Amino acid sequence: MAMSDVCDFQGLLARFQVRATPLRLAVLEALGSASRALRAKEILMHIKDQRRVNKVTVYRILEDFSRRGLIRRIPAEGKAALYELACEHNPPHPHFQCQTCGAVECLEPVSLTRVWDEIRGPLGHRADRLEIRVAGLCRRCRGRGGEQ
Ligand SMILES: [Zn+2]
Ligand SMILES: [Zn+2]
Ligand SMILES: [Zn+2]
Repeated sequence: MAMSDVCDFQGLLARFQVRATPLRLAVLEALGSASRALRAKEILMHIKDQRRVNKVTVYRILEDFSRRGLIRRIPAEGKAALYELACEHNPPHPHFQCQTCGAVECLEPVSLTRVWDEIRGPLGHRADRLEIRVAGLCRRCRGRGGEQ
């Protein structure tokens, strides 16, 4: 089941006090209908199927959404960052990045309570999130003999 079937994007925007425009909804729909995190270019392609859009506007929406916490921006080493929904249906989870092909995969959420408690620190900072990225060699690249 795609997340866009269970997510209430209008409600999500309202909760974050963002006005629901067709383009903002289309960005969330694109992210919700994918089974993995998407690069800005892929989101753009998805939306372009249905309407004419300005690339800069879409990029600005992505930036704004990730700053507000509606979506998560996943940095990828040597590749464009990826985006995914950050609603209650998609709790924070670690990501795996293949060091050969650069592919990024979402991993199952794990309990990071202990790590979080220890890392949060007494420095007077306000910690908002914890990101874990696992680097390695993906199954496909291993099969291709990419393993040394
Ligand atoms: Zn959702
Ligand atoms: Zn790979
Ligand atoms: Zn993910």
